[in-house]
Amino acid sequence: MKFKVDEETCIACGACEEACPEVFEVDDVSTVKVDDVSADLEAAALEAEEGCPVDAISHS
Ligand code: SF4
Repeated sequence: MKFKVDEETCIACGACEEACPEVFEVDDVSTVKVDDVSADLEAAALEAEEGCPVDAISHS
């Protein structure tokens, strides 16, 4: 599973890194550190996506 952050939309709140620090790192904007998220991290990454207050995270 691949995750993507829309940098224009991200407000750098830090919630995604808190929910799934293995995948998301927030500096000026959130970036996805892992190209292909492994099965054991998918649930946490999806939780981060759902928790994003501005819906900046998507996956495919
Ligand atoms: S939760 Fe959303 S708005 Fe907050 S840092 Fe992550 S991508 Fe950006």
